[in-house]
Amino acid sequence: MKTKLYALKLKLAEFQAALRGVFEDHFATLRLRIAEQGNYLTLISSGDWTIGKSFPDPNHEPVFACYLVMSTAPLEALKRATQGQTILNLIVSREQPQRVQVILYVDGRAQSLDRLHILGPGMIRLSPSERDELATKPTKRNSRIQRVQGAASGTWASATLLVVGGGSGGSSVGLQLASQNPASIIVVDPDVVKFHNLVNMPHARPEDAKMKRRKAYVLARAIHANAPRILVQGIAKRIQQPDVLEYLQGREPMAVFSFVDDVAAHLASSLLAQQLLVPHVAIGTLVQLSTESGRVVQQADVRLLEPGKGCLRCVPWMQEAEYKDAIYELHRPAGAMRRGPPRTWRANGRIGSSLALNQMAAGMAVELLARYLRGEVTTSTWIRYFSGRQTAPELLESSVGASSECEYCDPQSH
Ligand SMILES: [Zn+2]
Repeated sequence: MKTKLYALKLKLAEFQAALRGVFEDHFATLRLRIAEQGNYLTLISSGDWTIGKSFPDPNHEPVFACYLVMSTAPLEALKRATQGQTILNLIVSREQPQRVQVILYVDGRAQSLDRLHILGPGMIRLSPSERDELATKPTKRNSRIQRVQGAASGTWASATLLVVGGGSGGSSVGLQLASQNPASIIVVDPDVVKFHNLVNMPHARPEDAKMKRRKAYVLARAIHANAPRILVQGIAKRIQQPDVLEYLQGREPMAVFSFVDDVAAHLASSLLAQQLLVPHVAIGTLVQLSTESGRVVQQADVRLLEPGKGCLRCVPWMQEAEYKDAIYELHRPAGAMRRGPPRTWRANGRIGSSLALNQMAAGMAVELLARYLRGEVTTSTWIRYFSGRQTAPELLESSVGASSECEYCDPQSH
């Protein structure tokens, strides 16, 4: 029988609030749900922390109860966990709040927790592997970027990053993320390079279009050529394919970036990030001709969405017709026809695509995640750039949150 590995994921802001309660001589309890991915059982919070003078006794709990209790000393009572129950005791100390000791009771036996991730602005990983230590060791090669990354450099160095889209936008993101020197980058895009793509994909060659090479592989090749230390992988499939989603869940990316024209792929990326409890960075650009002024209007939208605190469905609220189409696309079997009239790149009054605009949007997206990791941005955030609407270009940034109508976001966050 294969041994199961246990991982626990918690949101930092909520963990810190619970920690304060524990330091005031209370117990903090959190109900968990178990998500199984291959060999890993990931324990994810389901609901809010309860802070009080008592904690649930396993003997008075259902057979399949799954929860954790945080305390300042080991709790003997939790040893009474019975067959079927999964109960964790997180033991924290006031002197070293960053160090958390974990005792895991599964089926009445004490086991070790293999990974503990605490997610949020300034994310900490409490169990770095040897590989992480190696990656964070300053070398001539990465010392400059590490200084820029500051306290978050360890997080970057051990991160796997997912990039959905390998065209002009996705490749701008992929190549800029490579400059952050992460452990791994995964690129997902089913399309092949076409001749008309080449002008906006400087890393692709005419031969790639001639050979009908996949955008995902061409981008992976370009990243690898520049940064051979980074483990790069191209997946030439649609993100919404169940086998792709299952695989990506197992890879545990630290963040999901999507820069595609396709609403369904954006939405699938958003839902994957929600499931993984990691931020989603959605990027879109539009170059239009204004019918009023006759001027070219360029627009870039970069949204960093925390899990449960806004998603592609609700920030901004997606039009019903567009949402229905996206849902149809999410469930459309590979190879089946797209619904409705064929879409062209000219939809929405688009007059073209600009590599300069895409690269700027990609840069803003990478920097937004960097600020989030450094704890300078602490909520879901939307950055908008416009040029051609007024005499000077506009750059707007605002915090955003989930809509109470959203079927995907966390109801507790409203
Ligand atoms: Zn939502």
